[in-house]
This record gives sequence, structure tokens and C-alpha cells, in this order.
Amino acid sequence: MIRRSLRSLLLVEDNPGDARLLREMLSEGGAHKMGMTHVESMSEAERQLGQASFDMVMLDLGLPDAHGLEAVRRARAAAPRVPLVVLTGLDDESLATEALQEGAQDYLIKAQIETRGLLRALHYAIERKAMEEALFAVKERAQVTLNCIGDAVVCTDIAGNITFVNLVAEKMTGWPAEEALGRPMAEVFRILDAVTRQTTPNPMDMAVVQNQTVHQPSNCVLIRRDEFETPIEDSVAPIHDREGKATGAVIVFRDVSAARAMAQEMTHSAQHDFLTGLPNRMLLNDRVDQAITLSARNTKKVAVLFLDLDGFKHINDSLGHPIGDKLLQSIAKRLVSCVRGSDTVSRQGGDEFVVLLSEMAQQEDAAISALRILDAVSQTHPIDQHDLHLTASIGVSVSPDDGMDAETLIKNADTAMYQAKENGRQSYQFFKPAMNVRAVERQSIEESLRRALERKEFALHYQPKVKLATGEITGAEALIRWTHPTRGLVSPAQFIPVAEDCGLILPMGRWVIREACKQARAWIDAGLPLYTMAVNISSMEFRDDNFLESVFTTLSETGLDPKSLELELTESVLMKRAESAASVLRTLRTRGVQIAVDDFGTGYSSLSYLRKFPIDALKIDQSFVRQITSAPDDTTIVTAVIGMGRSLKLRVVAEGVETREELEFLRAHQCEEAQGYYFSQPVPPSQFGILLKSGIPESAVIVHR
Ligand code: C2E
Ligand code: MG
Ligand code: MG
Repeated sequence: MIRRSLRSLLLVEDNPGDARLLREMLSEGGAHKMGMTHVESMSEAERQLGQASFDMVMLDLGLPDAHGLEAVRRARAAAPRVPLVVLTGLDDESLATEALQEGAQDYLIKAQIETRGLLRALHYAIERKAMEEALFAVKERAQVTLNCIGDAVVCTDIAGNITFVNLVAEKMTGWPAEEALGRPMAEVFRILDAVTRQTTPNPMDMAVVQNQTVHQPSNCVLIRRDEFETPIEDSVAPIHDREGKATGAVIVFRDVSAARAMAQEMTHSAQHDFLTGLPNRMLLNDRVDQAITLSARNTKKVAVLFLDLDGFKHINDSLGHPIGDKLLQSIAKRLVSCVRGSDTVSRQGGDEFVVLLSEMAQQEDAAISALRILDAVSQTHPIDQHDLHLTASIGVSVSPDDGMDAETLIKNADTAMYQAKENGRQSYQFFKPAMNVRAVERQSIEESLRRALERKEFALHYQPKVKLATGEITGAEALIRWTHPTRGLVSPAQFIPVAEDCGLILPMGRWVIREACKQARAWIDAGLPLYTMAVNISSMEFRDDNFLESVFTTLSETGLDPKSLELELTESVLMKRAESAASVLRTLRTRGVQIAVDDFGTGYSSLSYLRKFPIDALKIDQSFVRQITSAPDDTTIVTAVIGMGRSLKLRVVAEGVETREELEFLRAHQCEEAQGYYFSQPVPPSQFGILLKSGIPESAVIVHR
């Protein structure tokens, strides 16, 4: 019956009779193989326990050198991990109970001992001790684990009083375990809703009532004992007894300030522009919508100012992106300083900004803000070693008239901004519904333009240039024609600006040069008298890096003599970045290509500049030619241009000649060449071929004196 684990027993008993009796009982119970050491005093016992290891100690509580509880304590101190069974006299039962509390596993009343009882007691004592040890190990492991994990853990009993806090929980609540234990949960674990600042319902109660794990709302803050706040995330689970009845709860929580800060930062960067830190398009849309809703209630107005910088691209390209970036940051600061704190300045991307003016009393306030902004932007921006100057164009839309939602309002402000740009820089423009019609029109032109080339909707018409002295055709000007599948013929004045804006002018221009060169070569090969083929070149084409290469490739591929090609450029194209324009012109000139200044007199060219350019011809704009008939007393410009052309040794071509009167005036003033409906409209190639063969009818050119 006695366990094999009981192999050595220390009996501490000063009464020889009792000792003998016990020994006999043990041997009778089959424990004769067990080693038993018998000592008669506590000091002797302590010596033995210090030297050898025992599986069990039986201790009489009436020793000569230690009595009662003192004996128990000394025995426990000498061998804390060895099971202890105490022996008492009959009248010592209360002492025996105390002994159990001190750590003895069992007690035997000497007068009542009999063999079976003794053996059972020893057996249980060993088991109980083993269980105690195991339990201790489990508890210890749990304790160490709970103190090692990064989460805070607090346990309560069913009444909600704290029964356990781990180290992290101590730190986060500010309550040391010894002070926290036994206190009501709500006192130690104080949590608020971060937004409403209301106390959240006690999670322990919820867990116990619902009898399941519950989580706190995600925006909880824990208030530490010193009032410091930590955002937390937690879960609470009920603890059950064997019957499944809740006996308390355990709450696990962790500091989520880093995660929440990260989440906040992510939200911030999703809603702000990285370069300027201003709200981005997304956040602006929200704010505009909010402002509109609010304004409907308080009968105020909301304005959106769409701002685009004039010439920013030029600064960015010439001085480099780092300076461009700093300039945008500087603009951002100026814009913010121009508006109230309740207004929003946002960057849409590139050099576009949108300002939201909320709660405006009247529309004029938006105009005042726009002027203030235009002024602030135009002040010098000192960036690195540069003093940068630039202007802006602003489009303004106002709710409710121009839109009841962010998208419409911003789109309309954008449309108005385009109008402002067209009106001249450094200006603002209020949106008008008519602008939209134009914008829609433009949009639809752009869409069909994109398909026009591949669908072969373009054609070239040719208009002759006539030598006034002889009436012979000196050349042709190629003019593009677009037959839109549904609109029919669309004028170049309508679609060329759109093609310039969206970049389609480049492939289109290449097509025009190739087609014109091919046609000129064909006429020359057919033996027809064509000296030059003039092609119009727009600003963007001329500035394109591949322009020269493309012209020369086309010439060599079509086999047209470069001297037969004349490029028509307007004054403004030449004046913009005059130095680089001059160098491109020189390259063309060395190869023999001729250059004409188109629409001369309408731009702002200065004569001194004009001298620098290798130019062959000036084309007098038709508005001046018209003056010959409409304001015959004021023909100074025409005569001045003719004179100037002659002194610069340039050919002078009068454009748009419609009447015999104009023709005669021009001839009288020694203008060399002319072009216009009077001689011929621009015509398709087949008709132009006939013109080349037969010449301009004599009646049209011979002046009757
Ligand atoms: P532009 O180069 O000054 O061309 C002269 C314009 O005046 C042409 O208009 C022509 O048809 C018109 N015209 C000619 N004689 C008379 C006349 O006696 N009276 C009146 N009222 N008009 C006359 P179009 O063809 O509509 O072209 C307009 C402008 O579009 C051109 O002005 C030119 O700047 C541009 N353009 C035309 N074709 C092309 C092209 O292939 N490429 C580029 N980049 N621009 C082109
Ligand atoms: Mg022209
Ligand atoms: Mg012209």
C-alpha cells in the first residue's frame, strides 16, 4: 500500500514507546524495506535533514527542544519540500490545525493511530505535497508568463475586485500589485471613450453578463493613476468554475499609441500633399461638400478659387525641379496667409491650387480674396540665389449658383480659370454657364481630333502667292482642312489651338510637312512652275526637340530641295525664347530652308530682334491689308511694313488681298507679293495643279492704267 516513493522516513519522537509503536505499525503495513531514521530532538532532526534527503518527516509536537508550532516551523525551514506529518496528543487538536496552516500535510493523534490509518496518512501526505508542488509550478509558470508578455493582464473575482495584475498592468495603470489587489476594478482600470470623454461601460460586467469574450470600442483611452492617458485596445473574458459558472474575469489590454499614431499619420498622408503639406484633392472635396451643406443652412455662400500658375513649367524646366518644388512651397505659404483659418487651401497637383472660401457673405468677397492672392503670388519669391517672379490665373465659382457639389464647383472654377488665362495673365474670372458650352465643345473637338489622323480626316488645301509685278504664281501656302465625320468642315482656327493644348499638334504637324513636301515634289516633277511651298509651324512644333530632325528627314525622304520649303512662323513664336529660336532658324537657313514671319504686325516683335533672325519674308497680316479699303486715310502700317521689309532686304507678302483696290494700293507701294481670295481661295491639290498650269487669269492681275 505504501508508495514506492516513500523510501526514507525521518521520525522525530522523544518518546521511545511511541517510536517503537510506529516502527512496528510501519513494518506491519509492509513498509519494512523503507529506511527509517529515528531522532529524539529537533536539533538532531535538523542535522539529519541537513545531511541526507528524506521522503517524509513525522514530527512529534512535544519535543524537549521544540514545542508545538515552533517545531513545525523549524522542520519546514530545514526541509521545505519534504512532506510533513505531525503527531499530537489527544488534547492538541487545535494545535494540529494550526500546524496544517503552517505547511504540514497531515496530522495524527497518537492515541488514535492504527496501522491502516497511519499508512493512509503517509500516502496522502506524499500525494498532497506532490500536488502542492505541481500547483506551485503551474502558478509560477503562469505568473512568469503573464509578467513576460507585452500585454497587460488584470483578473477580478465575481464581485469585480482585483485578484491579479501583471507587471505591464502595474505600469500602465500606475497601481502596484500589492495596492491594486482587492480594489474594485473601476478604480484601478479607468477607461474613457477618447472622443466623447465618457466612461465606457465596465467591460468586466459585460463579459460576465454576456458570458463571452468582449472587446472595448476601438477608441478607448486608459487613464493612469497620475491621469496620464494611453490609447488602448482590450479584450475581456469571463473565468469559469468547474460547473461553468462565472467566477470572475480576465482583461488583457495593450498600449496602441504607436499603432494609432501610425494610423493617424497614414490618414494624414492620404489626405495631404507631400510637397506642401496642404490638404489634397480628396480632403478638399470633403471640405467643399461640407461647406456647401453648411452654407445651405446658414444662407451663406461658398466660393472655390481655382488657381494655376502662369509659366511655372518654364521655371521648373530651366531652373530644375528642386527649385520648382521650393517655389510651390513658397506659393503654398502665401496662399495660406491670404485666407482665414476656416478656409482651405489645397494643392491639386502640378502647379494647380484650389482655395475654398466658406461662409462668404457675398460674391464680392471672393473677388477681393482673388485679388489679394494674385498680388501675394506675384511678389518676389527669393529661392536659393534666385529672385523668382511669377503670376497666376484664377477661376472662381460660387455655390449655390455654380454648383451644389464639390465636383461641379471645382470643375466650373477650373473652366473659369482657363478663361482667365485666355484673357491675359494675372487675372481672375468668375464662372459663367456659357464657358461650359465652350469647354464641352473643346472637349469634344479634342476627342475626335485624336482619331482624325488615323481616320485620314485631314487634307491640305493650297493657296497661291502671286508676284505682283508679273502675275505669276511664286508659291503655295499649305493650309490644313479637317472634315469631321458629323460636323463637316472644322476651321483650323478652332482646332489648331486645341491640338496645341493636348500635344496632338506634333503628329499633325509632321503629317502636314510630309504631305506638303510630297505634293510640292510631285508638281515640280510634273514640270509645273512652283518655287516655294509654305508650311505653317505652330509654337509647340517649333519648340519640339525633334523639330529640326523631322524637317530634314522629311526633306530627304521626299526628295524636295530645301530651298523650295518655306516655314511660316508668327512673331510671338520667334520672340518666345528668342535666343534658341534664332539658333534653330540659323540651322534651317544653312540648309537652304526659307523662313517667313506670318501675321506680321499683330505681335509685339521689336525691330532690333527681327534683325537677329535669318528671315526671308514678312507676311503683312490681313487686318492691315483690310485697312486699305476700310480706312484709306490710315494706311501707314502697311506702307511702313513694306518699307521696313525693303530696308531689311526681305520679301514682303500681303495676306488676305480681297479687292482690286487693295491689290492696286500694294502694287503702287512696291509690295512684291500677295495672297488672297482676290486671286484664289485655298483649293484642293487637283485644282491647284490646274492653277499652276494655267496661271492666275490675266484680268485679275493686270492693272488697267
Ligand atoms: P495663316 O497662316 O495666316 O493663313 C491665312 C489664313 O487666311 C487662312 O485661313 C486662309 O484661308 C485665310 N485667307 C487667305 N486669303 C484670305 C482672304 O482673302 N480673305 C480672308 N478673310 N481670309 C483669307 P485658314 O486656312 O482658316 O487658317 C487659319 C490659320 O490656321 C492660319 O493662318 C494658320 O495660322 C493656321 N493653320 C492653317 N493650316 C495650318 C497647318 O497646317 N499647320 C499649322 N500649324 N497652322 C495652320
Ligand atoms: Mg500662314
Ligand atoms: Mg497669316
